[in-house]
Amino acid sequence: MTPARPPRRTPDKSRTGLLLPLLLSLAACTSVPLPPWPAPGGTPKAPPVAAPAPSAAPAAIAQPVPVRPGMVIAPPAAEAPYSAAVAARFPAPSIIYNTPGLQEGRSSFTSNAEIQTWLRDLTAEASRSPGLKAAVLPMGQSQRGEALEALVLTRAAGADAAALAASGRPTVLLIGQQHGDEPAGSEALLVIARELTQGLLRPMLERINVIIVPRANPDGAAVGQRVTAGGLDMNRDHLLLNTPEAQALARLTRDYRPTVVVDAHEYTVVGRFLQKFGAIQKYDALLQYATTANVPEFVTKAAEEWFRRPLLTALRTQGLSAEWYYTTSTDLADKKVSMGGTQPDTGRNVNGLKNTVSLLIETRGVGIGRLHLQRRVHTHVSAISSVLASTAQRAGDLGQLKPYVEKELSTMACKEEAVVEAGPTLGQQELIMLDPVTGGDRAIRVEWNSALTLRKLKTRVRPCGYWLSAGSKTAVERLRLHGVQVLRVAEPGSMLGDIYRETSRAAGARQDVRGAIADAGQIVRTEVALVRGVVDAPTGSYYVPLNQPLSNLVIAALEPDTQSSYFANQLIDSLDNVARVMSEPALRAEDLP
Ligand SMILES: [Zn+2]
Repeated sequence: MTPARPPRRTPDKSRTGLLLPLLLSLAACTSVPLPPWPAPGGTPKAPPVAAPAPSAAPAAIAQPVPVRPGMVIAPPAAEAPYSAAVAARFPAPSIIYNTPGLQEGRSSFTSNAEIQTWLRDLTAEASRSPGLKAAVLPMGQSQRGEALEALVLTRAAGADAAALAASGRPTVLLIGQQHGDEPAGSEALLVIARELTQGLLRPMLERINVIIVPRANPDGAAVGQRVTAGGLDMNRDHLLLNTPEAQALARLTRDYRPTVVVDAHEYTVVGRFLQKFGAIQKYDALLQYATTANVPEFVTKAAEEWFRRPLLTALRTQGLSAEWYYTTSTDLADKKVSMGGTQPDTGRNVNGLKNTVSLLIETRGVGIGRLHLQRRVHTHVSAISSVLASTAQRAGDLGQLKPYVEKELSTMACKEEAVVEAGPTLGQQELIMLDPVTGGDRAIRVEWNSALTLRKLKTRVRPCGYWLSAGSKTAVERLRLHGVQVLRVAEPGSMLGDIYRETSRAAGARQDVRGAIADAGQIVRTEVALVRGVVDAPTGSYYVPLNQPLSNLVIAALEPDTQSSYFANQLIDSLDNVARVMSEPALRAEDLP
């Protein structure tokens, strides 16, 4: 079977000024057959790659540091928010890691300046290895002016986006510490960076490229707070892109087009869980892939079969426990437990809408300071190593998957159904927690919001595209930061469309499964009716075609009657500024420069 070529996401200059129907026809017509799905562990259909695939679960992950007698690898038990019996359930790993923040006697985590030095030391070290490219990529600045940086590691001809694309190897993007009070992911990514450059993970670079953002929220990390300096939770900002920190990650993803994205976090161990259930959280790792409306089925299947299952095995091999990611509301009366949210706002979900295999890894860490820190880092290092190995092993399959999915999405415009809003399904789940006194396992049955089966709350036929008014500059700028193709209308025209008529409106706050999202502004909650009519498109207004790979992200942003939309969050200030275009328009339009 011949794999379909991916539609280009970068503007093609030769199209400029073409009549739109011609442009639209480029990606329209024939339905693309689904690729054969290899049996788990079966032979990939992709052409053989010269380098041997590394084993899915490397026996040794990092170069061990000798444990000297008297070495302090954990803080005194007196600092623990629970009994010594509970603490004893989490022995230090057999491997000891040594980033700046993990050094003996140290009381603070690796500082922002130390991370910068670490990345530069690794690039200097890599420059002595023939064929290995390591570069620190400036991504912008945080709200307080800290450098946002990524480390690119590759055996491509260069470390720029074009060189990585030309290498034919899949790129994995690893993101740490979007939440400033979740340090283990960041420390683990420094270990991973070192092991890829000069250690035991180095053979991986024969088959994959890796980009590491060790600390996505340096301002939050500097003061140990979850949110960014201005009070916004950047991990609810990946569709809207109001923060420079989320913008920097969107730009990086747009330019380097990763196939796999890992988002490293930590979760609350005591706090509201202890208050609600009288128990301590047990699992070393909580895991979840993208679970939001319209994520292509094959992307989810790849995340489950090629990544999550080997990851569970890798953790088990290291004696570490795992469960689906879950959290609970800050309302102590609400004892429901929910898997990670279904809204298209987190990095996990928005990267799923970008057709990447998007994986959230959380270790037990929030609220316990430096307690069990080596074990938390070890959990992240073990999990991320497994993801790297899975990507290397499935490089050929992944290289086929994304073009198929993107081609398929391009053919769905104008006809197939899109889910505008979806929610989790309520059921029950047994979780193992720990008795706070004895440290023994305690099985607790909870009301459980599963994000694995989505309930459709609102569906609509996919339009051919969306029209946006000339004044919608902010929305256009944010869509383009994501890599969405937006066309500018070059001559006045008109199109058959659905106009949104407001049927109700209320002010509200954006919610996630924890409660109201840390957010500066109120949202506009609206209900709409669709009215068929003619949409006038003056020169300078915009057309966003849906026959493009990011069509699902466009739907999440532009259908106005959801809490995550650009309208609800006032990036589009009136329903008159957006319309659904319901037949292929005959417009003269051009790509934006
Ligand atoms: Zn987090």
